[in-house]
Amino acid sequence: MYDAIIIGGGAAGLQAALTLGRMHRRTLLLDSGSYRNGTVRHAHNLLTNDGRDPAELRRIGRAEVAAYDSVEVRDAAVAEVIRDDDGLTVTVDDREFRTNAVILATGVVDELPPIPGLAEHWGDTVASCPFCHGHEFAGRPVAVVNATPHAAALARMLEPVASRVFIVAPTDVREVTGTTDGLRLHLIDGSSREVAGAFVAPTWTVRGHIVDALGLERQESGAVRVDPFGRTSVEGVYAVGDLAQPDHAPGPMFSLAAAIAGGQLAAVAVVQALVAA
Ligand SMILES: Cc1cc2nc3c(=O)[nH]c(=O)nc-3n(C[C@H](O)[C@H](O)[C@H](O)COP(=O)(O)OP(=O)(O)OC[C@H]3O[C@@H](n4cnc5c(N)ncnc54)[C@H](O)[C@@H]3O)c2cc1C
Repeated sequence: MYDAIIIGGGAAGLQAALTLGRMHRRTLLLDSGSYRNGTVRHAHNLLTNDGRDPAELRRIGRAEVAAYDSVEVRDAAVAEVIRDDDGLTVTVDDREFRTNAVILATGVVDELPPIPGLAEHWGDTVASCPFCHGHEFAGRPVAVVNATPHAAALARMLEPVASRVFIVAPTDVREVTGTTDGLRLHLIDGSSREVAGAFVAPTWTVRGHIVDALGLERQESGAVRVDPFGRTSVEGVYAVGDLAQPDHAPGPMFSLAAAIAGGQLAAVAVVQALVAA
């Protein structure tokens, strides 16, 4: 019987494991190895690690967690989580693990606008978050490839950073190709624009099979509804990181710092529940 099983080994899951390890709680972390920022080489806006490769952050995170004997990390994909009166069962291949608490840190999946060439530059010169990737384009023109009302707000945010912000609808872009230090947008009218980088609005979805099988309540955004400590609508099940959204937030807070904070708070709540039992 584990005190907690963490599903997901990104920033949120690793932080939860670190906190539980420090409290000598028997913890299993299961990681299928598919991270939202898997194509990113430089993550930003994370204090003490601004610009670090996310793969390096995960390597350091795993090494830190490995120092705590009560935490076990396995590279494996969880097929199922079932809640019964006595706890939770987590199934991996044909093995079952029992636990008092599950911390879901399974993240979300992005679907990019269907523009040829965009995916090859995703996480580098194509991004969605100006807080993560805006400064890298400083003093040069950038494109906002998005025709929603959000585009104007994003353009205003980028005004102090970029030399010029150019808004274009995805349907007006035929193809995106790389240049030596940026991108060229080939437009359907035959013209082209060279920019340092482009911002797009991918459609994100919570990885749903475990969430739906447990019947976790969702927010209107599609994220899992949680309280400030990551507690979901099902007792003993917590959600942290990109897939979780508390009531007070306008949406899930997509950032490494927020994922780390969520992972830590949920682990604290798990320890509190264990001592209260
Ligand atoms: C292009 C891009 C650039 C970004 N740049 C920045 C940046 O510069 N700075 C910043 O702060 N944020 C950035 N972000 C946001 C940041 O990457 C996310 O907020 C963060 O990765 C969320 O962490 P997480 O732990 O919730 O999810 P993830 O890191 O996505 O981890 C999810 C984990 O769940 C695992 N998993 C899923 N299903 C299963 C299963 N069934 N069984 C076992 N494991 C499972 C996955 O393998 C993975 O380990 C960026 C995002 C994108 C898309």
